[in-house]
Amino acid sequence: MTPVPIHAFNPGPMTGDGNWTWLLPGRVPTLVDAGTGEPRHLDAVEAALAGASLAQVLVTHAHVDHASGAVAIAQRFQGVRFLKMPWAERDGRWPVSWQPIGGDDIVDAGDTRLRAVHTPGHAPDHLCFWHEESRTMFSGDLAVKGTTVYIPPNLRGDLADYLASLERVRALKPARLLPAHGPVIDDPEGLLSNYLQHRREREEQILAALHAGPATPEALVPLIYRGLREDLMQVARETVLAHLLKLEREGRARRRDESWHIIEP
Ligand SMILES: [Zn+2]
Repeated sequence: MTPVPIHAFNPGPMTGDGNWTWLLPGRVPTLVDAGTGEPRHLDAVEAALAGASLAQVLVTHAHVDHASGAVAIAQRFQGVRFLKMPWAERDGRWPVSWQPIGGDDIVDAGDTRLRAVHTPGHAPDHLCFWHEESRTMFSGDLAVKGTTVYIPPNLRGDLADYLASLERVRALKPARLLPAHGPVIDDPEGLLSNYLQHRREREEQILAALHAGPATPEALVPLIYRGLREDLMQVARETVLAHLLKLEREGRARRRDESWHIIEP
C-alpha cells in the first residue's frame, strides 16, 4: 500500500500549514479526508488519480478542515461516496449523502482493505483507519508530531475518551501514523506514550493547584501555562476544563458555582 499525500491548501490559525489528505489509488480509488474544497486540492487529487475516477472519501471526523470539502468534491467527481461515523448535529452542514460507518467496519480502499477504529476524544465521531499488513494507521487528528491535540469540551471533546483512544491505537503497535496535520509519525510508540505522560502531568498540576484552594478554569490557566500568548487563552481554558470534567467524572473534583474544588480521598 502506497498512499499519496495530497495537501489541502488550507493554512490557518487552527490548521497550521494546512491539512494532509491521503489518496489510495487502485481498484477502489479512495481519499482519506475531504479538506475544505480548495480548487488547488481538487486539482491535485485529479492529477494523482491519473484518469481514474474517485470512488469514495473516508472522513475521519466532522471538523470543518476534514469534512467541508465534501461538497466541492461531490461536484467535481461524479458518483463519489462519502463515508464517516455519524455526528447528527454536524454532518448536515455539508449536504452530501453521508454513508454511515463505525468502529471495526472493514472498507475496501485502493487495492486493499482498511478497518475503521473508533477513536473519540478530539471529536465524538473520530475514526482512524487501520491497514493491518503494513501496520499503518491513517490517524486524522489523533496525534500531531511536535505538539498536542486540542480536546474541546464545547464541541463534545472528551479527555477520558481521548486517553482511551490513545491506548487503543498504541495497543495495535502501529509502525507509522499518517496524520492530517504535520509530518508522518514514524515512532508512534514514543509519541503516544509522551502524550499519555503529558496529560498525566497536566492532571497532577491541576490537582496541585486545586489543592491550594478552589479555582475557576480561567484562574488555573496562568498557573499551568506560563507566559501564554493571548490568542491561545481560550484553547488553554478549554483544555483545563477538559481535565476538570474528567476529574469530576472520576469523583476527584466537583464544581460549585463557577469554582472547582478538589475532593479528598
Ligand atoms: Zn479536528
